[in-house]
Amino acid sequence: MSKPKILILGAGYGGLMTAVRLTKELSNEDADITLVNKHNYHYESTWLHEVSAGTIHHDKARVLIKNVINPNRVNFVQDSVREIKKDEKKVILKNGELTYDYLVIALGFESATFGIKGLDEYAFAMRSINTARRIREHIDYQFANYNNDKNATPEQLAIVVGGGGFSGIELLGELVNRVPELCREYDIDPTLVKITNVEGASSILPGFDPELVTYAKNFLESKGVQFKLDTFIKEVTPDSVKIQAKGSEDLEEIKAGTIIWTGGVKANAIVENSGFETNRSKVPVKDDLRAPDDDSVFVVGDCALIMNEESGRPYPPTAQIALQEAYVIARNIKHILKNEPTETFVYKSKGTVASLGHSDAIGVVFGDKKLKGKAAATMKKVIDDRSLFLQGGLGLLLKKGKFKPF
Ligand code: FAD
Repeated sequence: MSKPKILILGAGYGGLMTAVRLTKELSNEDADITLVNKHNYHYESTWLHEVSAGTIHHDKARVLIKNVINPNRVNFVQDSVREIKKDEKKVILKNGELTYDYLVIALGFESATFGIKGLDEYAFAMRSINTARRIREHIDYQFANYNNDKNATPEQLAIVVGGGGFSGIELLGELVNRVPELCREYDIDPTLVKITNVEGASSILPGFDPELVTYAKNFLESKGVQFKLDTFIKEVTPDSVKIQAKGSEDLEEIKAGTIIWTGGVKANAIVENSGFETNRSKVPVKDDLRAPDDDSVFVVGDCALIMNEESGRPYPPTAQIALQEAYVIARNIKHILKNEPTETFVYKSKGTVASLGHSDAIGVVFGDKKLKGKAAATMKKVIDDRSLFLQGGLGLLLKKGKFKPF
């Protein structure tokens, strides 16, 4: 009898960890495992703000998949997923197709632009290594160009970050470190460079502990960031954003050479386009992380929607939840293959830490312990290093770990 075929789409946190865990839960005789990913590397999405600002090199944030998975156990296919034909248990790739008995959808996130005019065309987004590299190179170019182009204006040095959530604030933390470096490198007066954050809510980091939010805002303001809260981006043009304060009729225009949108993410559109039942673009998975309309399909990470019964809101999309889900999916596939009942996924939050550059941060860990400053920055590095260790063991940790002292 042929072995059951397990197909994993995407090698981000959720997909890669599912592959790694399946090799631990199953033996070679139990199933054939195939992992498909667009690139031959996995990248640390949680480090994209550093790659975008240029505070770390992009190679630091990516890991060759062949160095993490056992090629004798997992067949890796480098290709782009185009469509899932769930009725035929088939996945259409750019260069072929694959069939499956069990599918794990781990295709991650894309930017949600909410129909804002010009956002797709003129604003950058941190979605992948390549998009992050483009942001860094664009910013570098603005600074390199400034003293070499007689028509250049300080407005071309200005940076607007749309969205004051987790990734927007982490990006600002890196930018306030990187911009002074660029000014020194290209002989530019730092006071010419304006960094603005535009956030629709009345506070940055909505939902975070208010004392820590104040700390983060004061920290970034002290480094020159200007916040426009209760303010919406209405339009993006090639060299500006048009914003509107809540309750105002008037539009204000901020000229800027670099506009980066971090104001929202949604699930990879392939999920919706393949006809899965969705809610806010994601699959509202059952307790055991299977799709509600297809028992042979598991969904992990940013493509899955799980409600937090306490708050009545979905859990936010994080690497932390994706990694935890991957463990349960691997065990549940084993249970199904062994005719055992599946497990219910229960999320255990280990806390959240937002970096403010290399040597500052804020966070809540171990239930309710608040951290800020260097203690929080150390914790952030511990979290990043732990994630590397879980993915690829000591070897990967030693190669890519964050050990640089403050
Ligand atoms: P991803 O990690 O995005 O992986 C998706 C994979 O699918 C990628 O490898 C991609 O190349 C591949 N793929 C996509 N489309 C295709 C296709 N068509 N064909 C083939 N392959 C494809 N979370 C935290 O927990 N803590 C943090 O501190 C944190 N910080 C963040 C900072 C930033 C700047 C950002 C952007 C996110 C941050 N997050 C953080 C959120 C976290 O990165 C995501 O929730 C997490 O990456 C989701 O994991 P995933 O496996 O669902 O998707």
